Amino acid sequence: MADIIQLLPDHVANQIAAGEVVQRPASVVKELLENAIDAGATEIKLVIKDAGKTLVQVIDNGVGMTDTDARLCFERHATSKIKKAEDLFLLNTKGFRGEALASIAAIAHVELNTRQEQEEVGCQIKIEGSKVVSQEPSVAPKGTSLLVKNLFYNIPARRNFLKSDAVELRHIIDEFHRVALAHPDIRFDFYSNNAELFNLPPSNQRQRIVNIFGGKTNEKLVPVNEVTEVVTISGFIRKPEFAKKSRGEQFFFVNDRYIKSPYLHHAINSAFEGLLKDGLQPGYFLFLTVDPQTIDINIHPTKTEIKFDDEHTLYAILRSAVKHSLGQFNVAPVLDFDSDPNLDTPYGYKDKKISMPTIEVDANFNPFKEEVSNDTNSAVTSKKSSSFSSGSGGHSFKRDAQPSWESLYVGLKDDDEGESVTIESERFSSVQFESEEVTGKLFDDSELTSSKATTFQLQKKYVVTTIKSGMVIIDQTRAHQRVLYEQYLKEITINEGVSQQLIFPLELHFGKVEISLLQTLKERLEGTGFAFEKMEDDVVVINGIPLHVTESEVPIILEQLITDFGDDIPDSGFTQTDMLAKTLCKTLAVRGGETLTNVEQENLVNNLFACTEPTVSPFNKPAFITMSAGDIEKKFM
Ligand code: ADP
Ligand code: MG
Repeated sequence: MADIIQLLPDHVANQIAAGEVVQRPASVVKELLENAIDAGATEIKLVIKDAGKTLVQVIDNGVGMTDTDARLCFERHATSKIKKAEDLFLLNTKGFRGEALASIAAIAHVELNTRQEQEEVGCQIKIEGSKVVSQEPSVAPKGTSLLVKNLFYNIPARRNFLKSDAVELRHIIDEFHRVALAHPDIRFDFYSNNAELFNLPPSNQRQRIVNIFGGKTNEKLVPVNEVTEVVTISGFIRKPEFAKKSRGEQFFFVNDRYIKSPYLHHAINSAFEGLLKDGLQPGYFLFLTVDPQTIDINIHPTKTEIKFDDEHTLYAILRSAVKHSLGQFNVAPVLDFDSDPNLDTPYGYKDKKISMPTIEVDANFNPFKEEVSNDTNSAVTSKKSSSFSSGSGGHSFKRDAQPSWESLYVGLKDDDEGESVTIESERFSSVQFESEEVTGKLFDDSELTSSKATTFQLQKKYVVTTIKSGMVIIDQTRAHQRVLYEQYLKEITINEGVSQQLIFPLELHFGKVEISLLQTLKERLEGTGFAFEKMEDDVVVINGIPLHVTESEVPIILEQLITDFGDDIPDSGFTQTDMLAKTLCKTLAVRGGETLTNVEQENLVNNLFACTEPTVSPFNKPAFITMSAGDIEKKFM
């Protein structure tokens, strides 16, 4: 048989390598930014169009390249950063594999302009799919500009695999954060579709964090500093009370390189143990400096995972350093004379004006008006009313059917506000299952009208009600999620959410990434009743919120949205609506452990069975189970 093994042509080998190095536009951004840093730049400009799909350009004022180097840098394994294997253990540069430019040039249209300081003219090279199209002298400022256009133009499968611009932009911003945080001494400018996204002047670590994540961040940081023989740790952690639900602000840098380390992350988590509420994530920006000989960066093509010689020691040191900082801050802030004054007195408070406490009074409240429910808790729990109100028309969740106890709730803007309580109350007294398609399965009309359905709550978790054929046990959380989910789905789709105006607009601060995510969802949020006065830079100003949401729930909702949507803002409008409705229902649904009044229980039952899909929660878990008389009988056998 003839020989069949051949060496792959370079451009094919490069394309294959590109699969590892370049997953998406953000990978190009990372490689180009790192090259600029390795070139000793003090100013770096990043320009992208269409989330990097059309253009990624990085301009630096670093050392530049000679003509020959400019041509060579696109060859595979062409690097100026290591010469022999031992150099791998003395690395002070970001790159060393010599793969990035070769890979990028294999799958895009690339234009390089570069000039070294002492040269008068520079050099321009254009490459398309690994082929040099032109090379000529050029007039260029000192440094290097690399322009990458039409990424994956020759690999349609990869191009189609890219996510929406919002998602890809988010990945780019993540990479940008990682590089910019590690190099506060370098100036960074970042433009996306001709708009400035970041403008970061040279500064110190703390200032850089604040410049990236917004002005309010400063008062939320506690410094961490620890010097040992094995490692030097510096950086900041977020005070536990400002912990977030999202994992967004968790950064480890080892020798100025961003790395992912679940193991070290665990060390931080364990230091925070007992200080964070359930589901909240510690925030940290930690810079570890170790002897390059004690780590191996070579284990991953994108170099975000590294191997430490002595991970256990590192774990212990890190944990105790963080604990120490937390302790200093929590226990003895007054004795800590050396500490940064910013730390103990958040500057936001220093110049804060004292404001009068606000008291809200509901003029319509009349304690002597009768209520159907004799449960005194009803006023307190009335915020759940939206879902527990007995819908006026089966599927309809229109707000014209506010239960009487809701008039106790301040902030209501309702069509029939002030309407006689007794009329409202009557609606409660008759429990009806109005949705034919649904009730048909479970209840037949006769049993509902003939016998008054009764409910009770079991272990503050289930609502039990009887039907002719036996009994239904409803999971209160899942049922409520279902009700809210369908309500929000509808409100977002037809844009009918009712809004309550806030007298004092609510101002919330987020990072730019988060704001851009919220901007994507803005219209849909407005569908539910949110009204935004402002949503830009690092601030959201809210002057209207959905009717049955309380002000204190708003930050939780937005945080939850940011967490849930995370990296994956879905492309399709429907999926976005669906996810938004899911987040809202998850956040707002009544939990286990909450007592429901009789009225609330009955309304929950009514509203659940008025749903299109009452059997399961939006997360596909059973919302109720039934037990027929036969089932019960069998148990007694
Ligand atoms: P690596 O960074 O691993 O060496 P790259 O493919 O990213 O591999 O770059 C190849 C070489 O091109 C680098 O080693 C460097 O000498 C040169 N180079 C790349 N980008 C720049 C830049 N912005 N300024 C100066 N030289 C650069
Ligand atoms: Mg490189």
